[in-house]
Amino acid sequence: MSELTHHYDEVAARLARAAAEDGRSADEVRLLAVSKTFPAEMIRELYEHGVRLFGESRAPELAEKAAALPADIEWHFIGRLQANKVRKVVQLAGVIHSVDTPELLTRIDRIAGEEGRRPVVLLEANVSGEESKAGVPVGELEAFARQAASLPNVDFQGFMTMAPFDAEPFRIAAIFELLKLTRDELEGKLNRQLPILSMGMSGDFEIAARHGSTLVRVGSLIFGAR
Ligand SMILES: *Cc1c(COP(=O)(O)O)cnc(C)c1O
Repeated sequence: MSELTHHYDEVAARLARAAAEDGRSADEVRLLAVSKTFPAEMIRELYEHGVRLFGESRAPELAEKAAALPADIEWHFIGRLQANKVRKVVQLAGVIHSVDTPELLTRIDRIAGEEGRRPVVLLEANVSGEESKAGVPVGELEAFARQAASLPNVDFQGFMTMAPFDAEPFRIAAIFELLKLTRDELEGKLNRQLPILSMGMSGDFEIAARHGSTLVRVGSLIFGAR
């Protein structure tokens, strides 16, 4: 087995153990392989190993890779999404994790309608309050969620967040727990299921899996340093 598939399997095994510590089975916390900056051949190798979920953060790179790789890959867009790239991303990505403004959400809905698509969207929350981070503060999530729930051409399924890179594990855990509690509360207020919590990266995916994540986004631990 190659290094790459070995690293993937190792992350998947660690993820399954962490999910079990949270009383959940391995398939309740999915692993998104974040392939940004890495070549299509590496994605193909993991594809042949059975992996279907890949995450990209730039629209042109996503377009190039999607054109070169099998059509049954489920592409997730995880980066900052510029207005003029929405159409490309809507055409190619089944899930958009990084919806961080009402204007962007409205635009995704309109263009998805024009393209005959209905992407899954996750609203990005800035839970830690760090100014450098994208996302909507927790206090503004309800209004944002109501907007998402009202739009016909997006399939609003939950939330995404990033924890501070250098925080203590207990603080990272608290951030993930807070988003989970907020999601639980909004499910009641909006009377709809919001099953996806995209939380956890290479440095904190096990903490995330122990604190409610249903989808972790792991790049460098699988592919190597960028
Ligand atoms: C790059 C990126 C990741 C993966 O980061 P690693 O630390 O390499 O696992 C996850 N989420 C987002 C939003 C990213 O931009």
